[in-house]
Amino acid sequence: MVKETKFYDILGVKPGCSQDDLKKAYRKLALKYHPDKNPNEGERFKQISQAYEVLSDPEKKKIYDQGGEQALKEGGVSGGFSSPMDLFDMFFSGGFGGRGRGRRERRGKDVVHQLTVTLEELYKGAVRKLALQKNVICDKCEGRGGKKGAVEQCPTCRGTGMQIQVQQLGPGMLQQIQTVCPDCRGQGERINPKDRCKQCQGKKVVRDRKVLEVHIDKGMTDGQKIIFNGEGDQEPDLEPGDIIIVLDEKEHSVFRRYNVHDLFMRMEIQLVEALCGFQKSIRTLDERELVITALPGEVIKHGDYKAIMNEGMPQYKNPFEKGRLIVQFWVQFPKTIAPELIPALENALPPREESMIPDTAEEVVLVDFDPENEARRRSHKNAYDEDDEMHGQGQRVQCATN
Ligand SMILES: [Zn+2]
Ligand SMILES: [Zn+2]
Repeated sequence: MVKETKFYDILGVKPGCSQDDLKKAYRKLALKYHPDKNPNEGERFKQISQAYEVLSDPEKKKIYDQGGEQALKEGGVSGGFSSPMDLFDMFFSGGFGGRGRGRRERRGKDVVHQLTVTLEELYKGAVRKLALQKNVICDKCEGRGGKKGAVEQCPTCRGTGMQIQVQQLGPGMLQQIQTVCPDCRGQGERINPKDRCKQCQGKKVVRDRKVLEVHIDKGMTDGQKIIFNGEGDQEPDLEPGDIIIVLDEKEHSVFRRYNVHDLFMRMEIQLVEALCGFQKSIRTLDERELVITALPGEVIKHGDYKAIMNEGMPQYKNPFEKGRLIVQFWVQFPKTIAPELIPALENALPPREESMIPDTAEEVVLVDFDPENEARRRSHKNAYDEDDEMHGQGQRVQCATN
């Protein structure tokens, strides 16, 4: 039982969810609310980052689960939060250890894009074209911004790259504010306007439309990254960053992925089929039809599982090996049965065991009961047992994974 659920709620997960669920939740939300895509959601982006930072660290998570946000502050373990941008870059660039090791040069930033893919595409493999805009070095001036030797000291800041503004705060009180020179953007030099490159207007780079071919290999998984090295924005004297494509698997109407290689589906069958056998077909992700048979005499119980070998997901890099397709049977019971049919039915079924009813037994009434509903109400009450007294029972808390 946890003291507070705020950080879990921010990420849309339940306390006790796996680290994988956490990563997935962070991945989706951080990409959605990143300032590049959602400039007005800076505060939200920060909250997502902080919640993930705490819940992904076993030590901080333990403190938070036991004592809530207050305990984190008092414990001093957190030592403040990382910058949301650093956490984001670390998460999507594979951390300190991965790319970037031993690379000392100044590097442009990586650009992360999310690409929604269907389960069919991950099963069959696909090539998707992704059009994006990026900065490339101007080919006309080769990134100089103008003619050779056209560079001169910036007259606005006299080459310092900074500008000093003086503000009067009150009588006799002046404040000096140093800002980056807007004319040369801190470079201290500029291209003389008459020598400026016509193609890039002296900016050294131009916007270019680029179409990336993203190869989705069979068996790739939700969250997998496809990296285009050095395809990020170009800038003079800077090694370009990467374009990182993160796959986002769309939910499928029939199949769910289970343990990476297996697929899971639920199949409804009628009571008569469960008792007397059936033949049914399943349409696979590559549009083949499979036929499954339950022989007469074999009884399928409600909730029973069966598996079909080699009809699950292909393995990444080894696509001829496939997992299993797991089928769970959901038996549809008839709502009512006509009383005149009952003797025949009773004859066909295994006989009842005789039950002895003592004379002293009291007659009682059966009413409907929904255990799921009860469990939901109980977990809500536990998580919020203190709040409940203040807000009453009617308040609902959303803590579903999306
Ligand atoms: Zn140019
Ligand atoms: Zn300047």
